[in-house]
Amino acid sequence: MNNISLLTHRKEEPEDGILYIVGTPIGNLNDISQRALNILKNVSLVACEDTRQTKKIMNKFNISNKLISFNKHNSSTKIPKLIQDLKAGKSIAIVSDAGMPGICDPGEDIARNAKSAGIDLICVSGPCAALTALVSSGLPSSSFVFEGFLPKKQIDREKILLEISKNQKTTIIYESPKRLRKLLKELFEFCGGDREIMVGRELTKKFEEHVGNNIKEVIEFFKDKDIVGEITVVVKGIKNRDFNPDKFLIKKDLHDLRNAGLSLSAASKYLAKRTGLKKSEIYNMI
Ligand code: SAM
Repeated sequence: MNNISLLTHRKEEPEDGILYIVGTPIGNLNDISQRALNILKNVSLVACEDTRQTKKIMNKFNISNKLISFNKHNSSTKIPKLIQDLKAGKSIAIVSDAGMPGICDPGEDIARNAKSAGIDLICVSGPCAALTALVSSGLPSSSFVFEGFLPKKQIDREKILLEISKNQKTTIIYESPKRLRKLLKELFEFCGGDREIMVGRELTKKFEEHVGNNIKEVIEFFKDKDIVGEITVVVKGIKNRDFNPDKFLIKKDLHDLRNAGLSLSAASKYLAKRTGLKKSEIYNMI
């Protein structure tokens, strides 16, 4: 990184040699800002996750500019070229399909690489699904944990679910509609049915839906439904007084033993001996 501090007194936008990270709507196209439109119209080129998606915004606001595709499949080959262009004085905007580039999409890689190459980054802030879900959930929002998509590998996933189950802060999770049922079942197992939750579906869109109040009710709500659309899940943190460190420590030991290769049955048996609890009680903690 070359700069210790970035200039704060900026000239007219867009400026040469700057990488603009531009937030775009997560559904409702009217959520685009005037500043974002100005950048998209006047930068040397716009690098988009999917050019068809970005064209929808450009067409709606009657603007045109050079669009190139920049996504997780081609980012490693495109990044060096984009950095070269920035160094040659071009201004570039990065946009993802929806929301803030860099939050669970390839914007993160270019931002990191550009920064280490000494390029100035300016964020033109815009909508973000995580924050939209958080504030519309009505759950505590001053302090929160953003998990993005949970890992697919079961062991890694359970580790995070365990963290969520004992976290006192609100947690935000991105999930695909196909896997929502599985996630809700896991949250039920780790956090219990009474934990407050909100599933935000199709936020800012015509069929926006907020489903609460607790995990049990949300599972029931989706039981016989076809789940479609974009989903963000917000889970309330545990209250300090509900936190039972012994139970959490045993659960953690159970996970550690399983990660070390023991079967659930063998690990439960071992911990039952060590804690004096019934094997079945420990077995059922997962
Ligand atoms: N960078 C984007 C942002 O921060 O808003 C998120 C990109 S991530 C690849 C896409 C995920 O964001 C979706 O799978 C979904 O979990 C969430 N998401 C995006 N749009 C949404 C919407 N309108 N309603 C609910 N969740 C949404």
